[in-house]
Amino acid sequence: MKTLLISDIHANLTALEAVIAAAGSFDATWCLGDLVGYGPDPNQCVERVASLPNLLCVMGNHDAATLRRIEIDAFNPEARTALVWTQQQLSEANAAFLRERPEVINVDQITLVHGSPRQPVWEYLLDTRTATANFEFFDTLYCFVGHTHLPVIYHLPDDQRLAHLIVPENTTQVTLAPRSIINPGSVGQPRDRDPRAAYALLDMDDYTCEWHRVSYDFASVQERMRQAGLPERHILRLAAGW
Ligand code: ZN
Repeated sequence: MKTLLISDIHANLTALEAVIAAAGSFDATWCLGDLVGYGPDPNQCVERVASLPNLLCVMGNHDAATLRRIEIDAFNPEARTALVWTQQQLSEANAAFLRERPEVINVDQITLVHGSPRQPVWEYLLDTRTATANFEFFDTLYCFVGHTHLPVIYHLPDDQRLAHLIVPENTTQVTLAPRSIINPGSVGQPRDRDPRAAYALLDMDDYTCEWHRVSYDFASVQERMRQAGLPERHILRLAAGW
């Protein structure tokens, strides 16, 4: 069974469609949150994600802020501008879809969260020490996260005290080893200086996970963002992946 792993779409429909096309056929979809925020296509992205096969999808911090579940003041001024715009755009049906997303999903030996198992919506796993501390906060063999917009695997073998960090690149294939925390990277706003959309394909029959990058027409997304009056900084970063 092939599962498409996506995260941090951030209302970028062009990147999302490029990922879906590049992924080919897949049986299930796990989405790690932040469907909206930053980008120009919040409604289309929620509807497209909702249409994907056998979807499991958790709530991200931008999703929660769009729903007014967390204070918009917790974000920087430009992210706030984008969130207010997103609140104005989002249809009631799409808001209802986001409202139904749980913060944590557990299935078999898998945990899905947006940020971290310790603080599912907010915490960033940006270093091995923070990641290592988080292994105490989930019981399954594998935990999938998003939020940092950086593809990564943190692997903590039973006999070790500090997790190893692996940074997967395009077409890196890894057989997952227990226990690991895995981030597929961001579809709609990559931050590792590679502007291509990131995703991963997971085969749970043999626990292989393959990371991918796909180019998309970010200029057309930038154009829609300009028309919508979204912050220039968010427009510029798409071209460079930061
Ligand atoms: Zn995000």
